[in-house]
Amino acid sequence: MKEFFAKIGASIKAHKGRTIAISVTAFVLVCIIISLCLLSAFLFNRLSQGYVPTDEQLAAAKGQYKRVVIIGVDGVGDYFSHEYTPNFDRMFDPDVNACITYTGTAVYPTISCENWMSMFHGVRPVYHGFIFKDTNQRVEAGRQTDTEKYPSFIKQFLSQYPESKVFSSCTWRGVNNGVIENDKRIVKRNSDAEQIYAFMNNETMWSPVTDTECQDNYKTENGQKVLVKASNKIEEINAYVEAPVADPKGQLREFLEAQVLLHGYSDETIAMRDALTMQRVIEANVEAYEEDGVVKYRERSDVEYTISYMHLDQVDHAGHSYGYSKPGYNEAISRVDNLIGWLYDAFEEAGMFDDTLFVLCTDHGHRLPGGHKNHGKNTDEEVNITFALAGKTVKKGMLTSRYVDTDMAAVISYALGVKAADSWQGRVPYGMFTLLG
Ligand SMILES: [Zn+2]
Ligand SMILES: [Zn+2]
Repeated sequence: MKEFFAKIGASIKAHKGRTIAISVTAFVLVCIIISLCLLSAFLFNRLSQGYVPTDEQLAAAKGQYKRVVIIGVDGVGDYFSHEYTPNFDRMFDPDVNACITYTGTAVYPTISCENWMSMFHGVRPVYHGFIFKDTNQRVEAGRQTDTEKYPSFIKQFLSQYPESKVFSSCTWRGVNNGVIENDKRIVKRNSDAEQIYAFMNNETMWSPVTDTECQDNYKTENGQKVLVKASNKIEEINAYVEAPVADPKGQLREFLEAQVLLHGYSDETIAMRDALTMQRVIEANVEAYEEDGVVKYRERSDVEYTISYMHLDQVDHAGHSYGYSKPGYNEAISRVDNLIGWLYDAFEEAGMFDDTLFVLCTDHGHRLPGGHKNHGKNTDEEVNITFALAGKTVKKGMLTSRYVDTDMAAVISYALGVKAADSWQGRVPYGMFTLLG
């Protein structure tokens, strides 16, 4: 009898053990499945979808635009859809000429360097290698990704159009110094506070590229990576850097004087630097002439930039100072909108709308007020980004397909008829261009 009960006890014990083992295994499996679902939802959201245009499609796109003008607005997220922005609305009108999304996706982490690198070089941060640690400082100091393997869309464009020129005007020098490669065909300007003082005092503005701003690059020789010291090229690069701002209509001076009256040379210097950044892009594309005592703009005749890029930084600064959706943030967006109005008016007066593609892009948004005023995480306000295109080959309306910021390189390349780099992960999202269907 004893033995009988002992057997039953052992059987129950064994059974219990197995039940526990099965329960633990099931629990672990469920955890793994949930983690995989969350991870794939997180990653999938940031994977590109869309076209890799064929040679025929590229040939059809080629020559549609004489130039592309890219307005990079740091840290604005989806906020153009919330704020009153009459100039953005007339430049990018989804009923007339533009394709817009406010729910594009930034790459993670939602930090400037990670995202501008992904936008320009077409790959996610683990590929371009700028992720998490001091990334903004690294590009400001001129570090670069492997540009042989992951060229920026600018480098890719110049490799197929070697005679062309590119202009890049930045308030945050990280993009000029580290994101875009150095090349004598790329004219770079960084707008800093000293230049604002110089301009206000009628002194010459001179923004030479310094040793630390010059990137060392690598080239491949007989299968070996060879370091090319950028410092050898400083003179060559600086020969292209100097240029005063002419401000023929006086709008820059008028704006700066108003800012100084309001704020002095203090917090709002960033707004002044953005105005200088914009004025430089305008003057890179148009020239002034006088007719009946009135200053007018026409297409510039001495030089032609196929790509003009600008980086405006005040919205990001306002996000850090005041927080997403706070009045200071809205005011910064209104000032940027005002600058977009300068660009619109200049191009309209010069009759350059038909052969220009306008692009507005941003790297990330900002966190909702309440906690630490910053970005870098995964909230909707940080991740959702605006991407807007206006031009004659653009399919008008709100974009219904997915746009991830790694797609920007592919989109701009396609619009210019440039073949994308094989290494790029970005695609041309469905429904953005008429010729792609
Ligand atoms: Zn940023
Ligand atoms: Zn920031």
